[in-house]
Amino acid sequence: MRHVAIVGSGPAGYYTAEACQKQFGDQVRVDIIDRLPVPYGLIRTGVAPDHQSIKGVSRRYEATALSDNVRFVGNVTVGEDVSIAELLNLYDAIVLATGAPADRTLGIPGDDLPGVVGSAAFVGWYNGHPDFADLAPVLSGPGAVIVGAGNVALDVARVLAKTGAEFTGSDIVGHALDLLDGATHERITILARRGPHQIAMTPKELGELGHLERAVPHVDPADLPPEAEDAALDPGLRKSVSHLRNFATLDLAKPITIEFDFYAMPIAIEGDGKVERVIVERTAIDAEGRANGTGETYVVPAALVVSCIGYRTPPIEGVPYDAKLGRFANDEGRIAPGLYAVGWARRGPTGTIGTNRPDGFMIAEQIAADTPDDYGKEGRAGLDMLLRDRNVDVVTFRDWQKIEAAETAAARDGSPREKFTSIDAMLAARGV
Ligand code: NAP
Repeated sequence: MRHVAIVGSGPAGYYTAEACQKQFGDQVRVDIIDRLPVPYGLIRTGVAPDHQSIKGVSRRYEATALSDNVRFVGNVTVGEDVSIAELLNLYDAIVLATGAPADRTLGIPGDDLPGVVGSAAFVGWYNGHPDFADLAPVLSGPGAVIVGAGNVALDVARVLAKTGAEFTGSDIVGHALDLLDGATHERITILARRGPHQIAMTPKELGELGHLERAVPHVDPADLPPEAEDAALDPGLRKSVSHLRNFATLDLAKPITIEFDFYAMPIAIEGDGKVERVIVERTAIDAEGRANGTGETYVVPAALVVSCIGYRTPPIEGVPYDAKLGRFANDEGRIAPGLYAVGWARRGPTGTIGTNRPDGFMIAEQIAADTPDDYGKEGRAGLDMLLRDRNVDVVTFRDWQKIEAAETAAARDGSPREKFTSIDAMLAARGV
Protein backbone atom coordinates (compact mmCIF):
# COMPACT_ATOMS: atom_id res chain seq x y z
CA MET A 1 0.00 0.00 0.00
CA ARG A 2 1.28 3.48 -0.88
CA HIS A 3 0.26 6.49 1.17
CA VAL A 4 0.19 9.75 -0.77
CA ALA A 5 -0.57 13.22 0.61
CA ILE A 6 -1.43 15.91 -1.91
CA VAL A 7 -1.31 19.47 -0.62
CA GLY A 8 -3.86 21.60 -2.46
CA SER A 9 -7.26 20.57 -3.81
CA GLY A 10 -7.27 22.48 -7.08
CA PRO A 11 -7.02 20.98 -10.58
CA ALA A 12 -3.38 19.88 -10.16
CA GLY A 13 -4.23 18.15 -6.87
CA TYR A 14 -7.27 16.27 -8.15
CA TYR A 15 -5.63 15.27 -11.43
CA THR A 16 -2.72 13.86 -9.41
CA ALA A 17 -5.13 11.92 -7.20
CA GLU A 18 -6.85 10.54 -10.30
CA ALA A 19 -3.46 9.61 -11.77
CA CYS A 20 -2.45 7.83 -8.53
CA GLN A 21 -5.66 5.82 -8.66
CA LYS A 22 -4.94 4.80 -12.24
CA GLN A 23 -1.30 4.01 -11.42
CA PHE A 24 -1.80 2.02 -8.22
CA GLY A 25 -5.45 0.83 -8.32
CA ASP A 26 -6.65 -0.02 -4.82
CA GLN A 27 -3.07 -0.17 -3.55
CA VAL A 28 -2.99 3.54 -2.74
CA ARG A 29 -4.53 5.85 -0.16
CA VAL A 30 -4.61 9.51 -1.12
CA ASP A 31 -5.27 12.40 1.26
CA ILE A 32 -5.90 15.77 -0.37
CA ILE A 33 -5.13 18.43 2.21
CA ASP A 34 -6.34 22.02 1.77
CA ARG A 35 -6.07 25.06 3.99
CA LEU A 36 -9.63 26.10 3.06
CA PRO A 37 -12.68 24.14 4.18
CA VAL A 38 -13.82 24.00 0.53
CA PRO A 39 -12.19 22.14 -2.36
CA TYR A 40 -11.25 22.85 -6.00
CA GLY A 41 -8.83 25.78 -5.61
CA LEU A 42 -8.64 27.85 -8.76
CA ILE A 43 -11.84 26.36 -10.14
CA ARG A 44 -13.76 27.93 -7.27
CA THR A 45 -11.74 31.08 -6.64
CA GLY A 46 -9.83 31.78 -9.87
CA VAL A 47 -11.91 30.85 -12.93
CA ALA A 48 -14.23 33.74 -13.76
CA PRO A 49 -17.75 33.38 -12.32
CA ASP A 50 -19.28 33.96 -15.77
CA HIS A 51 -17.30 31.03 -17.20
CA GLN A 52 -19.43 28.31 -15.66
CA SER A 53 -18.69 25.76 -18.37
CA ILE A 54 -15.01 25.77 -17.30
CA LYS A 55 -16.01 25.43 -13.65
CA GLY A 56 -18.02 22.31 -14.62
CA VAL A 57 -14.77 20.29 -14.51
CA SER A 58 -15.19 20.15 -10.73
CA ARG A 59 -17.75 17.35 -11.31
CA ARG A 60 -14.86 15.22 -12.52
CA TYR A 61 -12.88 16.02 -9.38
CA GLU A 62 -15.92 15.18 -7.29
CA ALA A 63 -16.00 11.69 -8.82
CA THR A 64 -12.37 11.25 -7.73
CA ALA A 65 -13.11 12.68 -4.29
CA LEU A 66 -15.97 10.25 -3.75
CA SER A 67 -13.91 7.14 -4.44
CA ASP A 68 -12.99 5.00 -1.45
CA ASN A 69 -9.25 5.54 -1.53
CA VAL A 70 -9.27 9.36 -1.80
CA ARG A 71 -10.06 11.72 1.10
CA PHE A 72 -10.47 15.49 1.34
CA VAL A 73 -8.82 16.86 4.47
CA GLY A 74 -9.96 20.50 4.55
CA ASN A 75 -9.21 23.39 6.91
CA VAL A 76 -5.68 22.09 7.51
CA THR A 77 -2.70 24.35 6.78
CA VAL A 78 0.52 22.55 5.92
CA GLY A 79 3.36 24.49 7.49
CA GLU A 80 1.16 25.48 10.47
CA ASP A 81 -1.13 22.63 11.56
CA VAL A 82 1.29 20.00 10.29
CA SER A 83 4.82 20.34 8.93
CA ILE A 84 6.31 18.93 5.76
CA ALA A 85 8.75 16.90 7.89
CA GLU A 86 5.81 15.32 9.77
CA LEU A 87 4.03 14.50 6.51
CA LEU A 88 7.19 12.92 5.13
CA ASN A 89 7.27 10.64 8.17
CA LEU A 90 3.67 9.59 7.63
CA TYR A 91 3.36 9.26 3.85
CA ASP A 92 5.39 7.63 1.07
CA ALA A 93 4.98 10.69 -1.13
CA ILE A 94 3.96 14.31 -0.58
CA VAL A 95 2.84 16.19 -3.68
CA LEU A 96 2.68 19.98 -3.42
CA ALA A 97 -0.20 21.15 -5.60
CA THR A 98 -0.52 24.52 -3.94
CA GLY A 99 -0.80 26.52 -7.16
CA ALA A 100 0.41 30.09 -7.38
CA PRO A 101 -2.05 32.11 -5.29
CA ALA A 102 0.21 35.08 -4.49
CA ASP A 103 0.51 38.15 -6.70
CA ARG A 104 3.72 39.24 -8.32
CA THR A 105 4.20 42.87 -7.47
CA LEU A 106 4.80 45.62 -10.00
CA GLY A 107 7.91 46.80 -8.18
CA ILE A 108 7.39 50.48 -9.05
CA PRO A 109 6.99 53.49 -6.76
CA GLY A 110 3.45 53.71 -5.37
CA ASP A 111 2.54 50.07 -5.97
CA ASP A 112 1.57 49.80 -2.28
CA LEU A 113 -0.94 52.68 -2.34
CA PRO A 114 -4.51 51.81 -1.33
CA GLY A 115 -6.41 51.07 -4.52
CA VAL A 116 -3.55 49.13 -6.12
CA VAL A 117 -4.38 45.43 -6.02
CA GLY A 118 -3.03 42.28 -7.59
CA SER A 119 -5.21 40.07 -9.71
CA ALA A 120 -5.16 37.26 -7.12
CA ALA A 121 -6.78 39.64 -4.66
CA PHE A 122 -9.20 41.17 -7.17
CA VAL A 123 -10.25 37.84 -8.70
CA GLY A 124 -10.45 36.35 -5.20
CA TRP A 125 -12.76 39.21 -4.18
CA TYR A 126 -15.35 38.64 -6.91
CA ASN A 127 -15.02 34.86 -6.52
CA GLY A 128 -15.61 34.86 -2.75
CA HIS A 129 -12.15 33.83 -1.51
CA PRO A 130 -12.23 34.39 2.27
CA ASP A 131 -8.83 36.17 2.17
CA PHE A 132 -10.18 38.94 -0.07
CA ALA A 133 -13.86 39.28 0.84
CA ASP A 134 -13.26 42.75 2.33
CA LEU A 135 -11.43 44.25 -0.64
CA ALA A 136 -14.22 46.71 -1.64
CA PRO A 137 -12.49 48.21 -4.70
CA VAL A 138 -13.37 51.75 -5.83
CA LEU A 139 -15.39 51.47 -9.04
CA SER A 140 -16.01 55.14 -9.70
CA GLY A 141 -14.08 58.29 -10.49
CA PRO A 142 -11.51 58.36 -13.25
CA GLY A 143 -11.67 54.64 -13.91
CA ALA A 144 -9.58 51.51 -13.61
CA VAL A 145 -6.18 50.64 -14.99
CA ILE A 146 -5.32 47.00 -15.65
CA VAL A 147 -1.66 46.09 -16.11
CA GLY A 148 -0.87 43.06 -18.28
CA ALA A 149 -2.00 41.57 -21.58
CA GLY A 150 -2.96 38.03 -20.59
CA ASN A 151 -6.23 36.22 -20.01
CA VAL A 152 -6.44 37.33 -16.39
CA ALA A 153 -6.36 40.96 -17.57
CA LEU A 154 -9.28 40.07 -19.86
CA ASP A 155 -11.22 38.43 -17.02
CA VAL A 156 -10.75 41.50 -14.86
CA ALA A 157 -11.69 43.93 -17.65
CA ARG A 158 -14.81 41.97 -18.53
CA VAL A 159 -15.96 41.65 -14.92
CA LEU A 160 -15.36 45.37 -14.33
CA ALA A 161 -17.41 46.19 -17.43
CA LYS A 162 -20.43 43.92 -17.06
CA THR A 163 -23.82 45.00 -15.75
CA GLY A 164 -25.49 43.05 -12.97
CA ALA A 165 -27.86 41.49 -15.52
CA GLU A 166 -24.92 40.15 -17.54
CA PHE A 167 -23.88 38.06 -14.53
CA THR A 168 -27.12 36.06 -14.67
CA GLY A 169 -26.23 32.37 -14.49
CA SER A 170 -22.84 33.12 -12.90
CA ASP A 171 -21.78 32.43 -9.32
CA ILE A 172 -20.28 35.85 -8.69
CA VAL A 173 -20.64 36.60 -4.99
CA GLY A 174 -23.33 39.04 -3.87
CA HIS A 175 -20.94 41.65 -2.44
CA ALA A 176 -19.15 41.95 -5.79
CA LEU A 177 -22.31 41.87 -7.87
CA ASP A 178 -23.79 44.80 -5.98
CA LEU A 179 -20.68 46.92 -6.29
CA LEU A 180 -20.08 46.08 -9.97
CA ASP A 181 -23.68 46.76 -10.93
CA GLY A 182 -23.42 50.22 -9.40
CA ALA A 183 -20.00 50.98 -10.96
CA THR A 184 -19.78 54.45 -12.46
CA HIS A 185 -16.30 54.30 -13.98
CA GLU A 186 -16.29 55.25 -17.64
CA ARG A 187 -12.89 53.98 -18.68
CA ILE A 188 -11.00 50.73 -18.17
CA THR A 189 -7.47 50.98 -19.54
CA ILE A 190 -5.46 47.85 -20.28
CA LEU A 191 -1.74 48.68 -20.24
CA ALA A 192 0.22 46.25 -22.43
CA ARG A 193 3.96 46.82 -22.30
CA ARG A 194 4.41 45.22 -25.73
CA GLY A 195 2.32 45.27 -28.91
CA PRO A 196 -0.71 43.51 -30.42
CA HIS A 197 1.47 40.69 -31.76
CA GLN A 198 2.86 39.95 -28.29
CA ILE A 199 -0.39 39.57 -26.32
CA ALA A 200 -1.04 36.45 -24.23
CA MET A 201 -4.83 36.74 -24.70
CA THR A 202 -6.70 33.86 -26.32
CA PRO A 203 -9.30 34.49 -29.05
CA LYS A 204 -12.46 33.31 -27.32
CA GLU A 205 -11.77 35.38 -24.23
CA LEU A 206 -10.77 38.45 -26.24
CA GLY A 207 -13.84 38.16 -28.48
CA GLU A 208 -16.12 38.34 -25.42
CA LEU A 209 -15.17 41.99 -24.94
CA GLY A 210 -16.91 42.81 -28.22
CA HIS A 211 -20.31 41.78 -26.91
CA LEU A 212 -20.78 43.68 -23.68
CA GLU A 213 -23.92 45.62 -22.87
CA ARG A 214 -22.50 48.82 -21.45
CA ALA A 215 -18.88 48.67 -22.61
CA VAL A 216 -17.03 48.86 -25.90
CA PRO A 217 -13.39 47.89 -26.50
CA HIS A 218 -11.16 50.33 -28.35
CA VAL A 219 -7.81 49.86 -30.05
CA ASP A 220 -5.85 52.72 -31.63
CA PRO A 221 -5.39 51.68 -35.29
CA ALA A 222 -1.92 53.25 -35.20
CA ASP A 223 -0.83 50.54 -32.72
CA LEU A 224 -1.65 47.71 -35.13
CA PRO A 225 1.20 46.27 -37.21
CA PRO A 226 0.60 46.00 -40.98
CA GLU A 227 -2.05 43.32 -41.56
CA ALA A 228 0.24 41.32 -43.85
CA GLU A 229 2.47 40.57 -40.84
CA ASP A 230 -0.37 38.63 -39.15
CA ALA A 231 0.26 35.74 -41.56
CA ALA A 232 3.41 34.77 -39.66
CA LEU A 233 1.54 34.39 -36.36
CA ASP A 234 0.34 31.08 -35.02
CA PRO A 235 -3.38 30.57 -35.72
CA GLY A 236 -4.61 31.32 -32.17
CA LEU A 237 -2.70 34.57 -31.89
CA ARG A 238 -3.72 35.54 -35.42
CA LYS A 239 -7.36 35.14 -34.39
CA SER A 240 -6.79 37.22 -31.28
CA VAL A 241 -5.18 39.94 -33.36
CA SER A 242 -8.15 39.88 -35.74
CA HIS A 243 -10.35 40.75 -32.75
CA LEU A 244 -8.07 43.69 -31.99
CA ARG A 245 -8.36 44.82 -35.61
CA ASN A 246 -12.12 44.64 -35.27
CA PHE A 247 -12.02 46.65 -32.01
CA ALA A 248 -10.11 49.36 -33.89
CA THR A 249 -13.08 49.80 -36.23
CA LEU A 250 -15.89 49.86 -33.64
CA ASP A 251 -17.65 53.16 -33.35
CA LEU A 252 -20.26 52.51 -30.69
CA ALA A 253 -21.36 54.88 -27.95
CA LYS A 254 -21.53 52.96 -24.67
CA PRO A 255 -21.04 54.20 -21.10
CA ILE A 256 -17.71 52.38 -20.59
CA THR A 257 -14.70 52.27 -22.92
CA ILE A 258 -12.17 49.45 -22.54
CA GLU A 259 -9.05 51.09 -23.91
CA PHE A 260 -6.18 48.89 -25.10
CA ASP A 261 -3.04 50.94 -24.53
CA PHE A 262 -0.17 49.13 -26.26
CA TYR A 263 3.55 49.84 -25.84
CA ALA A 264 2.67 51.21 -22.41
CA MET A 265 4.57 50.44 -19.21
CA PRO A 266 3.60 51.80 -15.79
CA ILE A 267 6.60 53.36 -14.08
CA ALA A 268 4.95 54.94 -11.01
CA ILE A 269 1.60 55.14 -9.26
CA GLU A 270 0.71 58.39 -7.51
CA GLY A 271 -1.98 59.81 -5.29
CA ASP A 272 -2.69 61.46 -1.98
CA GLY A 273 -3.13 58.49 0.36
CA LYS A 274 -4.74 56.44 -2.42
CA VAL A 275 -4.20 55.79 -6.09
CA GLU A 276 -5.15 58.74 -8.31
CA ARG A 277 -2.99 58.33 -11.40
CA VAL A 278 -0.55 56.02 -13.15
CA ILE A 279 2.56 57.40 -14.79
CA VAL A 280 3.09 55.45 -17.98
CA GLU A 281 6.14 55.29 -20.21
CA ARG A 282 5.84 54.60 -23.92
CA THR A 283 7.90 51.56 -24.95
CA ALA A 284 9.53 50.27 -28.08
CA ILE A 285 10.23 46.59 -28.79
CA ASP A 286 13.83 45.58 -29.41
CA ALA A 287 15.13 42.81 -31.68
CA GLU A 288 14.79 40.25 -28.85
CA GLY A 289 11.13 41.20 -28.40
CA ARG A 290 11.70 43.06 -25.12
CA ALA A 291 9.86 46.24 -24.19
CA ASN A 292 12.19 49.17 -23.49
CA GLY A 293 11.19 52.59 -22.21
CA THR A 294 11.48 55.43 -24.74
CA GLY A 295 11.54 58.25 -22.18
CA GLU A 296 8.15 59.55 -23.33
CA THR A 297 5.73 59.56 -20.38
CA TYR A 298 2.08 60.43 -19.83
CA VAL A 299 -0.54 60.21 -17.10
CA VAL A 300 -3.55 57.91 -16.90
CA PRO A 301 -5.99 58.93 -14.12
CA ALA A 302 -7.16 55.94 -12.05
CA ALA A 303 -9.10 55.12 -8.88
CA LEU A 304 -8.18 51.44 -9.11
CA VAL A 305 -5.13 49.64 -10.47
CA VAL A 306 -5.25 45.88 -10.93
CA SER A 307 -1.93 44.28 -11.86
CA CYS A 308 -2.46 41.09 -13.85
CA ILE A 309 1.18 40.22 -14.40
CA GLY A 310 1.38 36.69 -13.09
CA TYR A 311 1.58 34.84 -9.80
CA ARG A 312 3.94 33.22 -7.33
CA THR A 313 3.74 30.08 -5.22
CA PRO A 314 4.12 30.98 -1.54
CA PRO A 315 7.07 29.15 0.06
CA ILE A 316 6.49 26.46 2.70
CA GLU A 317 8.97 26.07 5.52
CA GLY A 318 11.41 23.26 4.85
CA VAL A 319 10.78 23.10 1.09
CA PRO A 320 13.53 24.25 -1.34
CA TYR A 321 12.26 27.33 -3.14
CA ASP A 322 13.31 29.17 -6.29
CA ALA A 323 12.71 32.81 -5.33
CA LYS A 324 13.56 34.08 -8.81
CA LEU A 325 10.92 31.92 -10.49
CA GLY A 326 8.47 32.13 -7.58
CA ARG A 327 7.91 28.38 -7.29
CA PHE A 328 9.33 25.31 -5.57
CA ALA A 329 12.81 24.34 -6.76
CA ASN A 330 12.26 21.05 -8.59
CA ASP A 331 13.56 18.80 -11.30
CA GLU A 332 10.60 17.75 -13.46
CA GLY A 333 8.50 17.71 -10.30
CA ARG A 334 10.99 16.05 -7.97
CA ILE A 335 11.97 18.30 -5.07
CA ALA A 336 13.57 15.86 -2.62
CA PRO A 337 13.11 12.16 -1.84
CA GLY A 338 9.38 11.65 -1.28
CA LEU A 339 8.56 15.30 -2.05
CA TYR A 340 7.11 16.45 -5.37
CA ALA A 341 5.52 19.52 -6.93
CA VAL A 342 2.82 19.55 -9.58
CA GLY A 343 0.89 22.13 -11.61
CA TRP A 344 1.63 25.83 -11.13
CA ALA A 345 3.65 25.06 -7.97
CA ARG A 346 5.97 23.04 -10.24
CA ARG A 347 6.12 24.94 -13.52
CA GLY A 348 4.78 28.43 -12.77
CA PRO A 349 1.46 30.05 -13.67
CA THR A 350 0.99 29.04 -17.30
CA GLY A 351 -1.37 26.88 -19.30
CA THR A 352 -5.00 25.90 -19.07
CA ILE A 353 -6.75 23.80 -16.43
CA GLY A 354 -6.22 20.72 -18.63
CA THR A 355 -2.44 21.25 -18.74
CA ASN A 356 -2.38 19.99 -15.16
CA ARG A 357 -3.64 16.54 -16.12
CA PRO A 358 -0.48 15.25 -17.82
CA ASP A 359 1.46 16.88 -14.98
CA GLY A 360 -0.43 14.73 -12.47
CA PHE A 361 0.23 11.57 -14.48
CA MET A 362 3.93 12.36 -14.68
CA ILE A 363 4.13 12.68 -10.90
CA ALA A 364 2.22 9.42 -10.33
CA GLU A 365 4.74 7.63 -12.56
CA GLN A 366 7.61 9.17 -10.62
CA ILE A 367 6.09 8.05 -7.32
CA ALA A 368 5.80 4.54 -8.75
CA ALA A 369 9.44 4.59 -9.83
CA ASP A 370 10.79 6.18 -6.63
CA THR A 371 8.90 4.41 -3.86
CA PRO A 372 8.62 0.71 -3.07
CA ASP A 373 5.20 -0.95 -2.79
CA ASP A 374 5.07 -0.81 0.94
CA TYR A 375 7.26 1.18 3.25
CA GLY A 376 4.92 0.45 6.13
CA LYS A 377 4.18 4.13 6.68
CA GLU A 378 1.27 5.11 8.87
CA GLY A 379 -0.52 7.29 6.33
CA ARG A 380 -3.89 8.80 7.12
CA ALA A 381 -4.30 7.13 10.52
CA GLY A 382 -1.15 8.91 11.69
CA LEU A 383 -2.32 12.25 10.30
CA ASP A 384 -5.72 11.91 11.98
CA MET A 385 -4.10 11.25 15.34
CA LEU A 386 -1.75 14.19 14.98
CA LEU A 387 -4.50 16.62 13.95
CA ARG A 388 -6.78 15.37 16.75
CA ASP A 389 -4.03 15.96 19.29
CA ARG A 390 -3.69 19.55 17.99
CA ASN A 391 -7.46 20.18 18.01
CA VAL A 392 -7.53 20.95 14.31
CA ASP A 393 -11.12 21.22 13.06
CA VAL A 394 -10.85 19.00 9.97
CA VAL A 395 -13.44 19.36 7.21
CA THR A 396 -14.28 16.15 5.34
CA PHE A 397 -15.72 15.80 1.84
CA ARG A 398 -19.06 14.93 3.45
CA ASP A 399 -18.85 18.24 5.36
CA TRP A 400 -18.08 20.03 2.10
CA GLN A 401 -21.19 18.49 0.55
CA LYS A 402 -23.22 20.07 3.35
CA ILE A 403 -21.53 23.42 2.75
CA GLU A 404 -22.21 23.05 -0.97
CA ALA A 405 -25.87 22.21 -0.35
CA ALA A 406 -26.24 25.34 1.78
CA GLU A 407 -24.60 27.46 -0.93
CA THR A 408 -26.90 25.98 -3.56
CA ALA A 409 -29.95 26.63 -1.38
CA ALA A 410 -28.91 30.28 -0.94
CA ALA A 411 -28.39 30.90 -4.70
CA ARG A 412 -29.96 33.90 -6.42
CA ASP A 413 -32.43 33.12 -9.23
CA GLY A 414 -30.54 31.60 -12.14
CA SER A 415 -27.28 31.28 -10.19
CA PRO A 416 -25.79 27.91 -9.23
CA ARG A 417 -24.73 29.01 -5.74
CA GLU A 418 -24.15 31.88 -3.35
CA LYS A 419 -20.74 31.18 -1.87
CA PHE A 420 -19.85 31.62 1.75
CA THR A 421 -17.07 34.18 1.91
CA SER A 422 -15.75 33.53 5.41
CA ILE A 423 -14.21 30.42 6.88
CA ASP A 424 -16.46 30.72 9.95
CA ALA A 425 -19.57 30.69 7.76
CA MET A 426 -18.26 27.68 5.86
CA LEU A 427 -17.59 25.79 9.08
CA ALA A 428 -20.98 26.72 10.51
CA ALA A 429 -22.73 25.40 7.40
CA ARG A 430 -21.62 21.86 8.29
CA GLY A 431 -24.27 21.93 10.97
CA VAL A 432 -21.89 20.97 13.76
P1 NAP B 1 0.13 35.63 -18.56
O1 NAP B 1 -0.65 34.95 -19.60
O2 NAP B 1 1.51 35.17 -18.30
O3 NAP B 1 0.13 37.20 -18.87
C1 NAP B 1 0.84 38.10 -18.06
C2 NAP B 1 0.90 39.45 -18.74
O4 NAP B 1 1.52 40.36 -17.84
C3 NAP B 1 1.73 39.45 -20.02
O5 NAP B 1 1.10 40.27 -20.96
C4 NAP B 1 3.06 40.11 -19.57
O6 NAP B 1 3.69 40.84 -20.58
C5 NAP B 1 2.55 41.08 -18.54
N1 NAP B 1 3.56 41.47 -17.56
C6 NAP B 1 4.35 40.67 -16.80
N2 NAP B 1 5.12 41.40 -15.99
C7 NAP B 1 4.84 42.69 -16.26
C8 NAP B 1 5.31 43.93 -15.75
N3 NAP B 1 6.22 43.97 -14.79
N4 NAP B 1 4.79 45.07 -16.24
C9 NAP B 1 3.84 45.04 -17.20
N5 NAP B 1 3.35 43.90 -17.72
C10 NAP B 1 3.85 42.74 -17.25
O7 NAP B 1 -0.57 35.51 -17.13
P2 NAP B 1 -2.09 35.59 -16.65
O8 NAP B 1 -2.91 36.49 -17.47
O9 NAP B 1 -1.97 35.81 -15.18
O10 NAP B 1 -2.63 34.11 -16.88
C11 NAP B 1 -2.03 32.98 -16.22
C12 NAP B 1 -2.42 31.70 -16.94
O11 NAP B 1 -3.80 31.41 -16.72
C13 NAP B 1 -2.23 31.81 -18.45
O12 NAP B 1 -1.79 30.58 -18.94
C14 NAP B 1 -3.64 32.10 -18.93
O13 NAP B 1 -3.89 31.74 -20.27
C15 NAP B 1 -4.46 31.27 -17.97
N6 NAP B 1 -5.84 31.79 -17.89
C16 NAP B 1 -6.73 31.29 -18.76
C17 NAP B 1 -8.02 31.79 -18.76
C18 NAP B 1 -9.02 31.24 -19.75
O14 NAP B 1 -8.67 30.35 -20.52
N7 NAP B 1 -10.23 31.72 -19.80
C19 NAP B 1 -8.40 32.78 -17.88
C20 NAP B 1 -7.45 33.28 -16.99
C21 NAP B 1 -6.16 32.77 -17.01
P3 NAP B 1 4.94 40.24 -21.37
O15 NAP B 1 4.39 39.26 -22.35
O16 NAP B 1 5.54 41.44 -22.01
O17 NAP B 1 5.84 39.59 -20.35
